[in-house]
Amino acid sequence: MIIEPRTRGFICLTSHPVGCEQNVLNQIEYVKSKGAINGAKKVLVIGSSTGFGLASRISSAFGSDAATIGVFFDKPPKPGKTGSAGFYNTAAFEKHAHKAGLYAKSINGDAFSNEIKRKTLDIIKEDLGQIDLVIYSLASPVRTHPDTGVRYKSVLKPIGGVFSNKTVDFHTGSVTEISINPAEGEDIPNTVAVMGGEDWKMWMDALQSENLLSEGATTVAYSYIGPSLTEAVYRKGTIGAAKDHLEATAFTITDDLKSIGGKAYVSVNKALVTQASSAIPVIPLYISLLYKIMKEKGIHEGCIEQIQRLYSERLFGGDLALDGNGRIRIDDLEMREDVQAEVAELWKTASTENLSEIGDLKGYSNDFFNLFGFKVEGIDYDADVNEMVEIASEH
Ligand code: NAD
Repeated sequence: MIIEPRTRGFICLTSHPVGCEQNVLNQIEYVKSKGAINGAKKVLVIGSSTGFGLASRISSAFGSDAATIGVFFDKPPKPGKTGSAGFYNTAAFEKHAHKAGLYAKSINGDAFSNEIKRKTLDIIKEDLGQIDLVIYSLASPVRTHPDTGVRYKSVLKPIGGVFSNKTVDFHTGSVTEISINPAEGEDIPNTVAVMGGEDWKMWMDALQSENLLSEGATTVAYSYIGPSLTEAVYRKGTIGAAKDHLEATAFTITDDLKSIGGKAYVSVNKALVTQASSAIPVIPLYISLLYKIMKEKGIHEGCIEQIQRLYSERLFGGDLALDGNGRIRIDDLEMREDVQAEVAELWKTASTENLSEIGDLKGYSNDFFNLFGFKVEGIDYDADVNEMVEIASEH
């Protein structure tokens, strides 16, 4: 079929398998071009199909020749209906990992459930014995608690008062003022239940209880801080409360892993266009200004550059360079004083009229379409493609 993008707000309902494969190939090439990383050899990535999780899986496999197991939740294709981008990314990843002689298996299902945890543990037991590195990179709007069956929904709201600021519709470039009402009722605990650290700990408990973690195993979850511009809706909002919980959970897990000398870390990553971040109000405007400045300064990075650097310089580079709160900071370039000062200056004047000039709206929009395999260089979008791609290990 001929596949075109069909967007609805910040989601795209279609995705292009050949474009997704090219994205994966580009990331593989990038990692290979940076040379070998002396990293973990048996890696479990939870949230492995897009964004930072996919970049982690690729960095482990093609940087360290690692065997990888990926857990993700994506829609497979049906005749005449495309699968989700994460499905095509995973199919492409496995295809190229297998071609390179690397072990790669993928589990498509709800990582929050007992069933998917069980399935994952069984595969580890059977195939790899033990895991050296667990990357926890889930971004989800909902979580059904595996013990109680309660379904929690996360919200993106400020805490304590209405937040008003500028935002952009990145499809049209229209900059408008938005007001977001503060969290109420159970909004905060619900968001913490979805995006906090409880599920991360459940995974680590499950792995440890069945002796599936190697001596000195490491686990890393991803977080975000960002500037004061977005603080009210992000770091000091409901999602920030969840990130606080996630970050605190790293210490609990490290305590739990003492007997095997294991460690849990949180890595604070840079703001990037992913399916998760395009849903957050205000962030797309911030990102389009940030991209402009960072590209001008020659310090722009995407997910793969971020994770390749996280692995090669920090996790396996001998210097974690932890901040005062024990976090790895790979958002260092985004948070540089000169970068933030320039973004804050541009923010004051950003409007519908000048954004395409002072911000990188085109870069934002391009990255957004790229997430779904569209607008990828070298792809013939008029060509008939097979939407019924399969993930090798699922058969
Ligand atoms: P993403 O949307 O690209 O990826 C989310 C992944 O989680 C996908 O593989 C998806 O399939 C998987 N997933 C979602 N629900 C699932 C479920 N129930 N079961 C199994 N898999 C599920 O998101 P991302 O932006 O890469 O975010 C990953 C992490 O990085 C999050 O913790 C996020 O807060 C953090 N982070 C993101 C940014 C950013 O700007 N995008 C910056 C810093 C940190």
